[in-house]
Order: sequence, then structure tokens, then C-alpha cells
Amino acid sequence: MVKLLQRLLAWFWALFRPKPPLPSVLPKQTRSLVPLLIYPKGIEQEPVGEEVRVGEARYFLSWPVELPQEQVEAAIDPAKLWLDDVLGAELPWAPLERLDSKFTLSQWRSSGIEMLKREVEDRSMPQSRDQVYLAFVRGMGGYAGGTGYQEFRAGYAMVGDVCLEAICGLPEPNAASVLLGEAWSDTSRSAQGQKAAFIHETLHGLDLPHPDGWPADEQPAWGETIMGYWWNMPNFLGTAGLTEREVQRALRWLG
Ligand SMILES: [Zn+2]
Repeated sequence: MVKLLQRLLAWFWALFRPKPPLPSVLPKQTRSLVPLLIYPKGIEQEPVGEEVRVGEARYFLSWPVELPQEQVEAAIDPAKLWLDDVLGAELPWAPLERLDSKFTLSQWRSSGIEMLKREVEDRSMPQSRDQVYLAFVRGMGGYAGGTGYQEFRAGYAMVGDVCLEAICGLPEPNAASVLLGEAWSDTSRSAQGQKAAFIHETLHGLDLPHPDGWPADEQPAWGETIMGYWWNMPNFLGTAGLTEREVQRALRWLG
């Protein structure tokens, strides 16, 4: 009888004893740079090979509209290497992600960088200062911009087709050759120059401003940083492309 009671008690104990908490199933938040290749809805019906004006802005879409993903990935690899080298740290890149947007090209063109924010929100993609999204948006031509890279907010940058086409080796005319035109130096339109534009946008995501975004007594010269005259790459005045102060600020993002 006592034995039976003991067994019953042991059984009850096994069933109702306080249990250690389950290990958390939530993935640990990690920082990442996420390159996106975005195709606006209906892009295949857009005119290719001609300049399109929307208000003040000019756009140019070359062909093929659909770019091999591996080609885009391979094109941005040299930018990643440059960054690792100059920062002296390996940046946490996510693989290139292809997104078929539900927003049309005209919506993209009227909202610019804000549309990227909407796209990320719409897909419930993580949004914090831990994520930096870098979008190549087909049909967005020369648009290059970064926003929301202030502290505690996700960074967004859009590099548009100018960058994409040039670094993927699309023959001229491409967006870079048409939209940047004569007014810009030859290097700005080259694959090398466009690699620099991509790096510039990436660094905005890591909280780096243009030289005039620094306090007056800390401003780098425009010629010594990729955050200034990026098209001077690789010839920056006495630096590898970033001043020491900029390197330190970018490394802060890595934690
Ligand atoms: Zn900039």
C-alpha cells in the first residue's frame, strides 16, 4: 500500500513538478545588410531604351529587364571586399533577395525611398537599426538615396538602375551612361564608379553622413572620402576612401 502511494506520488511529481523554462525559440537578433533586387509590378510593359521624364526626374530602363541574380550578386562582391578591407571588419551580408513588388513603377517613381520603406513594412520584414536594406529597383534609373539611417532606425538606401546596369556590365546605352551623361566624370559611369556609388549607399546605411553632416570642426574633406566624391574612387586624398573618424563611426553599427 505504502509502495503504491509512493509510486503514485512519484508519478504526480513527474507530471506536475515545476519545469525549467523552455529554451527560447526566437532567433537572436543579428545585424545584417540585405541587398534587394526589386521588380515593380508590370515592369515588363515599361518602355526600354529611352529616357522617360517624370517631373524633374529622368529615368532610363535598359534591357534585358530581368537580370540574372548571380550576375547581380557577383557584381556587388567587389564592393563587399572593399568595405571589409577599408573597415578592417567583415560586414554581415545577407544573400541578395529578389522581390516582386505589388507596387507599380509609377508608384515607385512618385515615392522614391519611401516606397522601399513601404515594401519592407508590407512584407513584415524586420525593421530596426539592425537591418540595412539596399535596394536595386528596376526602372528607378538614377535614383540614389539613403534615409532613416539615424540611430535606432533601419537604414534604407536605393541605388537604382544606374548602379545595377553598370556594375552588371550591361553595354551602353545603359542608365548610367544616359542619365549621368556628360556632366559627370567618366569614372562615375564606369563599373568602378558605380561600385563606389553602391558602397556610398551602404555606408549611409551604417550611419555615415556626407562630409557636411558632421559637426563643423570634424568634417572630412569631400575629396578624401567615398561619402563625398565617390566617383573619385580609387583616388581619395590620402585615405583608402574613408577617414579614420568615419571608419570608427561605421564600426559602431557593428557593435
Ligand atoms: Zn549620399
